[in-house]
Amino acid sequence: MSKLQPVRGTADLLPDVMAQHRLVIDTARQATARYGFQEMATPIFEFSEVFSRPLGESSDIVTKENYSFADRGGEQLTLRPENTAGVVRAMISGGLTQSLPLKYFYAGPMFRYERPQKGRMRQFHQVGIEYLGPNDALADAEVISAGARFLAQLGVLPHCVLHLNSLGDAESRAAYRAALVSFLQTHESALSDDSKRRLVVNPLRILDSKDTGDRDILQTAPKLQDYLNAVSKAHFQTLTTALDAAGVTWVFDPLLVRGLDYYCHTAFEFVTDALGTQGTVLGGGRYDGLSEMLGGPAVAGVGWAAGIERLAMLAGDAAVVVPKVAMLSTDPETDLAAFQLAETLRDTGVDIEFPTAGAIGKKLKKAARSNIRLAIILGGDELAKNTVQLRDLTTGTQAEIAMADLADAVAAALLAP
Ligand code: ATP
Ligand code: MG
Repeated sequence: MSKLQPVRGTADLLPDVMAQHRLVIDTARQATARYGFQEMATPIFEFSEVFSRPLGESSDIVTKENYSFADRGGEQLTLRPENTAGVVRAMISGGLTQSLPLKYFYAGPMFRYERPQKGRMRQFHQVGIEYLGPNDALADAEVISAGARFLAQLGVLPHCVLHLNSLGDAESRAAYRAALVSFLQTHESALSDDSKRRLVVNPLRILDSKDTGDRDILQTAPKLQDYLNAVSKAHFQTLTTALDAAGVTWVFDPLLVRGLDYYCHTAFEFVTDALGTQGTVLGGGRYDGLSEMLGGPAVAGVGWAAGIERLAMLAGDAAVVVPKVAMLSTDPETDLAAFQLAETLRDTGVDIEFPTAGAIGKKLKKAARSNIRLAIILGGDELAKNTVQLRDLTTGTQAEIAMADLADAVAAALLAP
């Protein structure tokens, strides 16, 4: 470490960026609360098994992308790469399967050892929802509609397309997997190395391959939708009818598969072309097998997660909230009284900037530069009379005000256009 810098793939969230994150998080919380989702949080690290069991030893997240370590007690722990497994673990370990359905919203950091690039970080942030209990397609429709409403309120929905696919139930997927594997085996030598490996461990993931050679082969591969049984078809039909009724537009994407093994029926992604190759801003699906994989009872679930960094880039600038009023003490003798007066005004609900050091001239210049509108100036003469000077920095007008009247005067001045 020659010079001190953040770890590769991590970033400081300075106020401008933090304000964007805050906007994304608050918008998501509000939009999903309209559907009854309530905020919760799980720890950022879990026993490694929480991720390795359901994600499968073969998934990229476990084999290549995990941040795992043994703690001082010898426990194998992993920084969470996503939050669905943690939420389902919380449901099981908290005995919450007695109070289904559960509707949770979360926001927080996730960790994946990936090659960092624009929109792809090693510590990144997600908002997401999980709807635990129902296994019917209308629950999927609620979850997807909540996602669309969130993106709409953020103002980014017009830049996004909803891709939708059905992975079918376990029976349909098994039938399809067999057909896909026997087809791909006849083309095995032409497949990419990643796909050759996946052919054994997770063949459905090959559909998702970005390799152009793989994509050519997939053109003539058997199609998942031809292997859906009646139950799976009905589930997808109910979902799409409901989305149409809600005015949520979507496109059928037969190659869309979620990276993880426990997904069934519904898979969806909101994709934008405004962010280059890192175009997926929100993705999710149904994961009815997850609870059992974690050693819990059979509990159905459906949810999504959205990348805050990518959404923040799309949503653009959010205004950072800064004080419009500054308390300026003219010399050290008035500092304490100015500090106290600032506290009194803050009690009335006004945001106050209070520079603690420097000459009054410099403080006034700095205040003007920081878009401060009102400067409250307190000097020795004023303090002796229990007054202050109230200066409007936009008009340059100044008036002497009794301290007792200051709160009202500030409120009135801030209301003026
Ligand atoms: P991708 O195909 O981009 O790798 P993914 O399928 O791995 O995405 P999910 O696990 O579904 O992504 O996570 C949901 C969302 O979280 C993604 O759509 C994306 O917006 C965001 N996301 C995932 N990984 C990262 C990352 N490393 N950095 C920033 N955002 C990410
Ligand atoms: Mg990924």
